[in-house]
Amino acid sequence: MGASMMIAEATLKEIECTRTVNQDQIWTLRFIFGKNLEGASRILDQRGVTRITAEPSGRVIFQVTGESRRKDKYVCFPENFCACYSFFYDVVKRAEQLCCKHQIATKLAASLGVCVEAKVSDEELALLLSKI
Ligand SMILES: [Zn+2]
Repeated sequence: MGASMMIAEATLKEIECTRTVNQDQIWTLRFIFGKNLEGASRILDQRGVTRITAEPSGRVIFQVTGESRRKDKYVCFPENFCACYSFFYDVVKRAEQLCCKHQIATKLAASLGVCVEAKVSDEELALLLSKI
């Protein structure tokens, strides 16, 4: 993990402890994530992050509602994957961003405890993952 990502993770840990975000933390995250932080905040405002727990395995994945008009939902793993185009293009191919806005939204929602909770069966989870 690069230094920027370590700073971001430390900041997210602080947020997780207090369940609030202060101005300094916003500046730090803005510096690291750039404009994607704004998109992530808009997604949070719309309660766009769902934490899906599969039963009985207890596996957890996140699904994030996109901002396009189609309101696509992306399967998102905050550490290392998002099914959106920006993840493939800006994060992986061009390496211009550390994370896409859906990953940032997921990290923030998890730290703030504002994920929408959903439960599915393991079969439904398999179906969700097969569509990535
Ligand atoms: Zn994404």
